[in-house]
Amino acid sequence: MSKANTILYLDGVSVSFDGFRAINNLSLVLDKGEMRAIIGPNGAGKTTMMDIVTGKTRPDAGEVYFDGNVDLTRHDEADIAMLGIGRKFQKPTVFENHCVEDNLLLSLKGPRSILPALFSRRSTAENKRIDDIFDIIRLGHRRGDLAASLSHGQKQWLEIGMLLAQDPKLLLVDEPVAGMTDAETEETARLLKQIAETHSVIVVEHDMHFVRELGVKVTCLHEGSVLSEGSLDFVSADERVVEVYLGR
Ligand code: ADP
Repeated sequence: MSKANTILYLDGVSVSFDGFRAINNLSLVLDKGEMRAIIGPNGAGKTTMMDIVTGKTRPDAGEVYFDGNVDLTRHDEADIAMLGIGRKFQKPTVFENHCVEDNLLLSLKGPRSILPALFSRRSTAENKRIDDIFDIIRLGHRRGDLAASLSHGQKQWLEIGMLLAQDPKLLLVDEPVAGMTDAETEETARLLKQIAETHSVIVVEHDMHFVRELGVKVTCLHEGSVLSEGSLDFVSADERVVEVYLGR
């Protein structure tokens, strides 16, 4: 298969920990501009797959390509972040003692020392980027408030905004709605759909109502391989998926 229009291309990927195959001959292709939901029971290999894509874990076998022809197995974790893969872990990690706007600014300016980022003049382009991100995450009214004062859901959105500030081509988002209210969950679906208009996105998620809201193609992992792939209706009607979720 051609890699040309893919943002992510995994073929025959395997990784073992002490002889246990956490990822087993996994193949997964994400087109440029696509948003995909990854589901699967605990231990299915979702985190390990994300670790492989971000360079945290090296596969024992298989191909991992990004943005067409960039061989990720030749890059380390720091390189891969610079190449344009942003990862959001489940728990929000924002700079609690800085205001919301400065959190975005610190991410936008990159991993330089904090003072130059906060005190140097901002270019018009940087101001526009920050305004654009506020339009997406809808926290403009909280710009000057300490990040510590945000709700759990708002911190998750701020962290997604911080990822956007780094201008990634591919965003990996791990269980974004865990612990959110229904209203926050709905808002998160809206926000991710808006982001997916201009970015490729992978969302690992357990909340099937949320996955339905996203309305995207679903890949169900099990024992380190793809068990089923298609619309949520297709995957959730697949007998094998029902079996692994019910533990029969
Ligand atoms: P998921 O995210 O779908 O719950 P994981 O990717 O975390 O699944 O784990 C897949 C399997 O690999 C699990 O059985 C887990 O115990 C095992 N595993 C993951 N990381 C390690 C590790 N560093 N050492 C040993 N086993 C691991």
